[in-house]
Amino acid sequence: MQSQDPAMRLQDLQYFGEFGGVNPSIEDSATYTFLNADKMEEMFEKEMAGCYLYSRHWNPMNRYLSDALAAMEGTEAAQVTASGMAAISATLMQLCGNGDEIICGRMVYGGTYALLKNFLPRFGITTHFVDITNPDKIRAAITPRTKIIYCETVSNPLLEVANIPALAQLAHENGLQLVVDNTFAPMLVSPAQLGADVVIHSLTKYINGTSDTVAGVICGRKAFINNLSDVNFGATMLLGPVMDSMRSASVLKNLRSLHVRMKQHSHNAAYLAQSFVDMGVRTIYPGLATHPQHRLFGTLLNPGYGYGGMVVIDMGTKQAAYDLMEAMQEEKVGYLAVSLGFFRTLFSSPGSSTSSEIPEAERIQMGLTDGLVRISVGLDNDMEEIFRRIARCVEAVTI
Ligand code: PLP
Repeated sequence: MQSQDPAMRLQDLQYFGEFGGVNPSIEDSATYTFLNADKMEEMFEKEMAGCYLYSRHWNPMNRYLSDALAAMEGTEAAQVTASGMAAISATLMQLCGNGDEIICGRMVYGGTYALLKNFLPRFGITTHFVDITNPDKIRAAITPRTKIIYCETVSNPLLEVANIPALAQLAHENGLQLVVDNTFAPMLVSPAQLGADVVIHSLTKYINGTSDTVAGVICGRKAFINNLSDVNFGATMLLGPVMDSMRSASVLKNLRSLHVRMKQHSHNAAYLAQSFVDMGVRTIYPGLATHPQHRLFGTLLNPGYGYGGMVVIDMGTKQAAYDLMEAMQEEKVGYLAVSLGFFRTLFSSPGSSTSSEIPEAERIQMGLTDGLVRISVGLDNDMEEIFRRIARCVEAVTI
């Protein structure tokens, strides 16, 4: 029987390298040989287990990494892509065509927002942005043309938590698919186990964890993943965002320690969030009882991984946020950089960086103000010392 624990599901997928290695061998080829021409013809018509045609279609290392991520998410299949944005755009373009509509959480990663708001309308795909925590608003936005409800498990950057089981029910009652970006909560939440049809990750973040690679994955039912690589109609095959085998191999090795890292990220973030609260700094963290979806999040979480590694604080003004981030970098708290899930702490001001694609008026309406600092808490061993350094910076900036 399949384990309820994502780390166990991942671990149970054991590889025996062809030459006895504990890691699978990297197949360093763009194209693959056939012993007879008939088989090659057959490959263009249907998937054949264990056979490879051309690396953009599939290659063995991408298959290993995809299978591992499918095991982690508990889906039938998965396909890795060259970036998280490639996973998002390929999924949406596979599921939607001219005239179709998407309902999307109003607070999603800025790149996703720009794709939906500015780019997909060129292909006749339009999006209604709604408050994803408000089921009435979502229900009201459904039309006969709606195909997808799209959300992030924990939203970037305001850390709103989506009620995935309720969204799945709403989607399925109306013949829609629920697509969930789980980038902020790998291991913590398994959206497919809660009813999502497709689960996406930017592997660039926690899953790889070393900020040396840009990569993504689409996890879902076998039929959908096969459709993606269809030689005539598949979005990954035809748009071509293939991941390089060498990179797949390194992500697969990093994936093996994800469960341990997530626990430490969560542990450190919980400490930091409470310390900020104690200091009187307005703090957003889903692990705090004051977070509006704290209780809901508790019902979605896989046990043992905590509430995640992202903390947002409000410094009141853009200048104070900038001064704090520069001071924290000087004090060796971490780096003033976008992205997240790195082993060191990273901080950025989302209003002027990762969410700058969202127009200012809409940002203000959502509470995404200029004084916010988004902190991706690292794997530091001594968080008390790190907080002492941060506290010195906060005091210097607010004096
Ligand atoms: N989804 C989320 C929640 C993100 O934060 C990001 C990037 O920051 C992406 C998707 C896009 O991923 P990538 O940069 O790997 O294309």
